[in-house]
Amino acid sequence: MGNRQDHAEVRSEFGTDRAELVYGQKADGSLVHISTAERGLKCACVCPGMCGSRLVARTMAKTPHFAHHHRDACGGGPETALHKLAKQIVKERLTLFVPKRIATHGDVERVLPGREEIALGSASLEFRDPQQIVPDLYVTIQGRKLFVEIAVTHPCDDEKIRRIREHGIPAIEIDLSRLPRDATPEVVANAVIRSAPRKWLFNKAIDDAVVELQKAATAARVAAESKLTTDAKQKARAYATALDSAPKSPPMPAIDVLRGIGLDKHIGIPVAGFACFTTGPAYWQSVILSDVLYGQEFRNKLANAVAVSKHLGGKGLIRPEFKWISNELETASIALDNRFAAPWRAVESYLKYLARVGVVVETARGFAIAQRVASQWFNWVDEEIGRVAAREHILETIERILDQLPDDERKGMTVDDWMDSINPENVDTYASLLEHTQTMQPIEAELRAIVGLFNGTRTDVLDLLGLPIAKECERRLAAIAAKELQRKAEAAGQAEKIKIDRQKELAGNAATVLGGSELDAWLNTPHPNLDGRTPLEAAYHGYHSAGKAREILSAIERRKQAEHDRSVEATFWREKLRKTVALRLREDEAKAFLNDRDDDYSRATALVFCRDERTYRIVLQKLDVWINAFGSKRHVPF
Ligand SMILES: [Zn+2]
Repeated sequence: MGNRQDHAEVRSEFGTDRAELVYGQKADGSLVHISTAERGLKCACVCPGMCGSRLVARTMAKTPHFAHHHRDACGGGPETALHKLAKQIVKERLTLFVPKRIATHGDVERVLPGREEIALGSASLEFRDPQQIVPDLYVTIQGRKLFVEIAVTHPCDDEKIRRIREHGIPAIEIDLSRLPRDATPEVVANAVIRSAPRKWLFNKAIDDAVVELQKAATAARVAAESKLTTDAKQKARAYATALDSAPKSPPMPAIDVLRGIGLDKHIGIPVAGFACFTTGPAYWQSVILSDVLYGQEFRNKLANAVAVSKHLGGKGLIRPEFKWISNELETASIALDNRFAAPWRAVESYLKYLARVGVVVETARGFAIAQRVASQWFNWVDEEIGRVAAREHILETIERILDQLPDDERKGMTVDDWMDSINPENVDTYASLLEHTQTMQPIEAELRAIVGLFNGTRTDVLDLLGLPIAKECERRLAAIAAKELQRKAEAAGQAEKIKIDRQKELAGNAATVLGGSELDAWLNTPHPNLDGRTPLEAAYHGYHSAGKAREILSAIERRKQAEHDRSVEATFWREKLRKTVALRLREDEAKAFLNDRDDDYSRATALVFCRDERTYRIVLQKLDVWINAFGSKRHVPF
C-alpha cells in the first residue's frame, strides 16, 4: 500500500468506523488512555472531538473504551484524539525526526547536509501571524523556527502549502493516516517522532538547491547547445573536406556479378551523406549489395539501415569523424550544409533508392533483396563457378604448354605475360577475354586443338593464341606425319602378306586337284572369268577375285571326279562284257566281236562303246544277233 492510498479505504481500515474511543480529554486539555482512567464518570473526561460531551470510562468492558455519557458517539472523537495526542507527545518529548533534505531537478538529485533527529528548543500549539497560518505545531530548533503539520485525515492542501511558503518558515508534514485510531500512547509516540512517513512541505534551502540545480541544468544545456553548434560547424567543415577529397576506390570484389546481372548501374548513387565513408559511394554501395543484402552476414535476416551502417563501420568504411553522430548533431550539421547526413541515414537513403528501383523490398522489419534479383544473382554465381573453373583449366593448360617449350623459344614467357598480351583479333588482353564466357570459349576451343596437336591426336590448329609455339607445332606436325607414314608402311606390309597368303592357299588347294605340269599351267594361265588374270594373280588381287579362282578350281575338281567315276563304271562293265563274251565265243571270235567297229557303236568297237549298263545291254543284243548270224564253234549251254 502506498501513501496515496484512498482516504476512504484508510478510514475503513484504521478509522473511526471500527475503532472505539480510547482517549479522553482532561479539563487541562491533556489526553488520558482508557488503561489509566478511573471507571465511569469518575474519569472526569470529555470527548476530545467537537462535541465535548462528558465521557463514561467503560474500563470493565471486553474492549475497554470511553462512551459518550448522554448521547451516541459523535464519530470524530478517535481521530481528533489521535491528532491531539500526537501534538501533545511532541510537546512533551521535544524530539523529532525530520526528513532528509533532497533537492531534485529532472534526473538530478542533491542531498543537503543536516541531521534527521533533532532536539527541539520549544514546541507550542500557539502561533500568531498576520497571514493567519495556523500550524498544528510550532517548534524551535536552536532558535530556528519549524512548522509541524500532523495529517490524520486530511493532508495539507496546496493553498496551505502556498501560504506556508510565503511565510518563509520551513514546514514538515507527518502522515499518521495509516496509524490505528486506537493505538496505544507508545505506538503513537514512536510513529509521530520517528517512524511515520514525513516530508518537507517547505524548506528554503531545498528550494534554493533546486534553483541551483535548475541553473546548473540550464547552464549545461546552454553549454551543450554551444558545443552542438561548435560540433556541427566542425562536422559541416569536415564533410566539405570529405566531399573535396578523393576517396579510396578499392577494387570491388563483387563488381563482376553486379555487372553480370545489371546492378552496376545502381551503385555510386550520390545520396546525402555519401562522403561520410572512407571510399567512394560505388564501393560502399557495392558492399551493401553484395555483403549485406546477399552475403553470409545478413543471410535470412532483413537488414535495417542502422545494422547495415554498423556492418560498414565494422569494415572500416566510415570515416572516424562521422562515426558517432547524434540526431541533434546531425540536424544542426544539416542546417549548415544540406549535403550532409549521418552515415546510417545515407545508408537508409540508398536502401530506399534500391527499393524504388525494385532491387530490394522494404518491409516493416527492414530491407531484403528482391526475389527476382536474388535468383538472377544465384544463377550468375552458379555460372561463374563454372567459368572460374574453365579459366583455371585454361591457365593450367597454358602453363603446361609453356613448360614443354625449349627455353630459346619460350624466352621466359609466364602465364601472367600471356594474360597481359594482346589478342590481335580482339585487340584485347587474354586476361580480359577470359573474364567472359563468350570471349573465353573460342580460346578454350583453340587451346583444345593445340593440346590435341601436342598429344599427337589433332592437326587442325588455326590460331597459336599468341603463344611462342610455332616451331613446336611444326615439330609436332612433322612427328605426326612421320608416324602416319610408318603406320601406312606397316599397313601395306600387312596387306601384301595377306595377298601372298591367299596365293599360297590357292596353290595348295590347286595341288590337291591338279598334278604336275597341269598345276603350274592352270595357276599361271589367264582365265576369262578372272578379268583376264591368272588364278595366282586373281588371288593376289583381292579377296573377291581369289574367291572366283577358288570356284573355278572347285568346278575342275568336280569335273575330274565325275570323269573318274565314269571311267570306273566303264571298266566294270567292259570287264563284265569280256567275261560274258568269253563264255559265248571262242577266243578268236571274241577278239573279233569286241574289236569290230560298227555303225551301231558310232563307229567305235564294242569294247569301247560299252561303258555302262545300257551300252552293255546293247552290246549283248548285238552278241545275240552276231551268234545267230554266224554261229559259234563254242557250244556252251547256258
Ligand atoms: Zn464526541
